[in-house]
Amino acid sequence: MNVLVINCGSSSLKYQLIDMKTENVLAKGLVERIGIEGSRLKHETAKLDDKVVIKQPIKDHKDALKLVLDALVDEKHGAIKDMSEINAVGHRVVHGGEKFSGSVVIDDEVIKALEECIELAPLHNPPNLMGIRACQELMPNVPMVGVFDTAFHQTMPKHAYIYPLPYELYEKYGVRKYGFHGTSHRYVSQRAAEILGKDIKELKIITCHLGNGASLAAIQNGKSVDTSMGFTPLEGLVMGTRCGDIDPAIVTFVMEKENLDINGMNNLLNKKSGVLGISGVSSDFRDIEEAAANGNERAKLAIDKFDMRVKKYIAAYAAVMGGVDAIVFTAGLGENSITNREAICENLEFMGVKLDKEKNNIRGKEAVVSTEDSKVKILVIPTNEELMIARDTIDLVK
Ligand code: AMP
Repeated sequence: MNVLVINCGSSSLKYQLIDMKTENVLAKGLVERIGIEGSRLKHETAKLDDKVVIKQPIKDHKDALKLVLDALVDEKHGAIKDMSEINAVGHRVVHGGEKFSGSVVIDDEVIKALEECIELAPLHNPPNLMGIRACQELMPNVPMVGVFDTAFHQTMPKHAYIYPLPYELYEKYGVRKYGFHGTSHRYVSQRAAEILGKDIKELKIITCHLGNGASLAAIQNGKSVDTSMGFTPLEGLVMGTRCGDIDPAIVTFVMEKENLDINGMNNLLNKKSGVLGISGVSSDFRDIEEAAANGNERAKLAIDKFDMRVKKYIAAYAAVMGGVDAIVFTAGLGENSITNREAICENLEFMGVKLDKEKNNIRGKEAVVSTEDSKVKILVIPTNEELMIARDTIDLVK
């Protein structure tokens, strides 16, 4: 059984075709600049030595999907003989609101429910829906499954997800913590339990998804009990360009001082803040680390702020769960930044967290990086959201 995993952004479509017998990736790629000048498809397969790049106008997501399907069955650079070898499609969907606490087979009712969630994720859910509709048109008989970023966190207790605001805002508009990156937190926590040879139902795990967008989750007995992102992905950690937690009074203060309207302030908080805002250098940690190494004080300050906030959340989540058995680092920075992992774990020895600096000297591969006598195990686990989506898809369409 082959599953096509699709992740649509406003002008992009990422895909992977996965053979579920072996869980090997048969082909993967990315359509970029959909509806914009310079659109192209980058496609690679397990068999090809190099990527195929097809540059041509791509007017919408249906056009993009058509190009992907043609590439997958192409005689020269394809991965399958014909479309009948795609048995199911798994879609990444950002926001499932309170309606979805797990993955679902997509039907008309689900699509309607997703449309109702647009208000909660106006930038993300519409392109996800465009991808779903493109598949409905081009592969009408292939079953589809929606896998939600928010679903894993639906197990949070009410006192974790409610905000200390007038309760009616929750009732009227659904203003509450939802949390994101759920598929990644779920994958790495399950993998951590496997690596440690323990039942996830007996573990307290803190998963640190540290990428351009970043969030932590407290996972007790396999269930998310708290997470740092909130009503939107803006809450929580310091991110590439997002501020994370700030005093909410700053919002109205700055709007008045800088004469900003709602869009202007939204842009400032989401696109101009975070480590980019503090450092003034870049949103990319590699650039910031290089600038800091060359003596740039603000770059160093951005890194220190980032690390301190992750550390604070780790300690807070250990308190929430009454302890922690394992801390997992994942995503671009979590998987690759040796120095940030070291800075985050420093001074957590009082909680039984002891990093082995030599073992920690790795990038992008699975490893246990705590000392033998560390009470809390520290793991690096590359995330694999696509595989998780494909597994859910197979489970539901079987
Ligand atoms: P993601 O959003 O998961 O793709 O992660 C992107 C972030 O990971 C960027 O800030 C990158 O700078 C960071 N990153 C990727 N590789 C490294 C590396 N080798 N060292 C430090 N940061 C890295």
